[in-house]
Amino acid sequence: MAGAERVDEAAAVLRRVFGYDAFRGGQRQIIDHLIGGGDALVLMPTGGGKSLCYQIPALVRPGVGVVISPLIALMQDQVDALRALGVRAAFVNSTQDLDTRRLVEAEFLAGELDLLYLAPEALASVGTLRLLERGKISLFAIDEAHCVSQWGHDFRPDYLALSMLHERWPEVPRIALTATATSATRREIATRLRLAEARHFVASFDRPNIQYRIVSKNEPRRQLMTLLRTEHAGEAGIVYCLSRASVEKTAEFLTAQGISALPYHAGLDAATRVTNQARFLREDGVVMVATIAFGMGIDKPDVRFVAHLDLPKSVEGYYQETGRAGRDGLPSTAWLAYGLQDVVQQRKLIDTSEGDAAHRRSLAGHLDAMLALCETVECRRVQMLAYFGETSSPCGNCDTCLNPPESWDGTVAAQKLLSTVYRLHRERNQKFGAGQCVDILLGRQTEKVRQWRHDELTVFGIGAELREAEWRGVIRQLLAQGLLAVEGDYGTLVLTESSGEVLGRRRQVMMRREPERKAAPRAAKARPAAAELPAAAAPLFERLRAWRAAMAKEQGVPAYVIFHDATLRQIATEAPTTLARLGTVSGVGESKLAKFGAAILEVVSAAHAG
Ligand code: ADP
Ligand code: ZN
Repeated sequence: MAGAERVDEAAAVLRRVFGYDAFRGGQRQIIDHLIGGGDALVLMPTGGGKSLCYQIPALVRPGVGVVISPLIALMQDQVDALRALGVRAAFVNSTQDLDTRRLVEAEFLAGELDLLYLAPEALASVGTLRLLERGKISLFAIDEAHCVSQWGHDFRPDYLALSMLHERWPEVPRIALTATATSATRREIATRLRLAEARHFVASFDRPNIQYRIVSKNEPRRQLMTLLRTEHAGEAGIVYCLSRASVEKTAEFLTAQGISALPYHAGLDAATRVTNQARFLREDGVVMVATIAFGMGIDKPDVRFVAHLDLPKSVEGYYQETGRAGRDGLPSTAWLAYGLQDVVQQRKLIDTSEGDAAHRRSLAGHLDAMLALCETVECRRVQMLAYFGETSSPCGNCDTCLNPPESWDGTVAAQKLLSTVYRLHRERNQKFGAGQCVDILLGRQTEKVRQWRHDELTVFGIGAELREAEWRGVIRQLLAQGLLAVEGDYGTLVLTESSGEVLGRRRQVMMRREPERKAAPRAAKARPAAAELPAAAAPLFERLRAWRAAMAKEQGVPAYVIFHDATLRQIATEAPTTLARLGTVSGVGESKLAKFGAAILEVVSAAHAG
């Protein structure tokens, strides 16, 4: 009975505070479980709506919800976003002066807070623990819980100490949340945080609004510019590069092309990183060019694309990085350009990496799965979800679904290439890289060919039926399938144990055809933001965006803290003329209606007038 009333209370808070009509996915069960005092381990993809899972129980249960988050730089924004909703939120971390901190502590003790955000290291201090013991706590939420995993690259030693929460506050429910998907990480989290008894909630990791596309890399910058100009002009996005140097160069290049692009990598000084991150979050349409050092916890909802100019090291990394697109549920693009050089480079990185043979084998396993995703002729999403243990059917919103690649029997081509490598080695005791092998197959009389007398090899000129790009594709796919390997600093090609099966005609090799620079897939769903708006609503949408930008500036908060794009679009489409109507729009709760309602109605009526 009491339970049912509380559930209704949760629904009421969802409507009144957040302005949403219905719970998503597993939110309701999780919220129920927590309100009832249970512990939970939640695995949900980025954009799945994890925050509500602890924010609503914190508002419904008596006491203050304590949120542990490693994202100190983002706490201010998180707290601002909650305050804009009328939630009494505050944070304690090392960036604060003593006076502010005292104030927060006083509010906490007086029961005047709904949510208190803490950095994990704060819990190591006796002062903070004493403070917490003197107040009433409704729940502990451990955000980015994968930071407790020592194998991931986000490991934070302070997270290990969080197991003591259970001992000190056995009666306070705990919820740990992460978007990191593999079952190994999940088991590790449960053990280290003493959450073995907790209920596990594992959501689907599908992100249907993200369109996945993997193209073969030929002129990466030009390809990137085409993507930005034709599909994402003026929109916010992230471009990932492998090295700091390529981050810098790419950002410069985009800036020279008139795009507002900023660099981000661990080699920049802290002040520059903070400024660039703040501009990305606050300004409309900034493109962040970054290494993977950028992104964790960035909850900007309107990132419209994530582009990779280099091959990610694992499917999991790729999924995490691309997942930063489209948290608001609107159509978004995940685009990756990948080529032969990426395979050579990644294999080399693994060969020269620190750690033992087992570690290198694990890295190689991750890379192989990523390569298989790149080379598949099946639905990308089906393959990616299968990697996380989910079965699904072809999605209709990835490049292979929209523009099915042909596969062809590449056995003969593979034999020609492998026998070139074989002959160089057997007859000449030489090893060469991909470029020379292609020149030999194509029968090119280059200086290097003449110098080494490679035109005298029997394989010289036997591969004229394929173009250079196609031969590079053949090599790339043989590398991906483990039928060929690279070695040493110059990426020389060598045979593997399996090469013999192809040379001995005991194995067929199917390959993905290199598309003839087909136009980008243009699906019905491929067009984001403004284009989906009814034409008549576009001018009002633009006026609302301008109003939002001014308001965000005035209040010193990111634009999405005022209203999300999705909310402005609904307002633009429905053009409400009364506060009551405006209050039914998704994302307009009581507090925002009171604060911004009148101003919004004015923007709407001004648009009508002229
Ligand atoms: P996560 O932390 O899982 O990445 P968030 O908690 O940031 O996701 O939520 C993603 C977006 O979805 C946010 O913009 C949030 O306001 C919105 N959202 C969450 N739950 C709902 C819901 N039930 N109805 C509508 N929008 C929601
Ligand atoms: Zn698909």
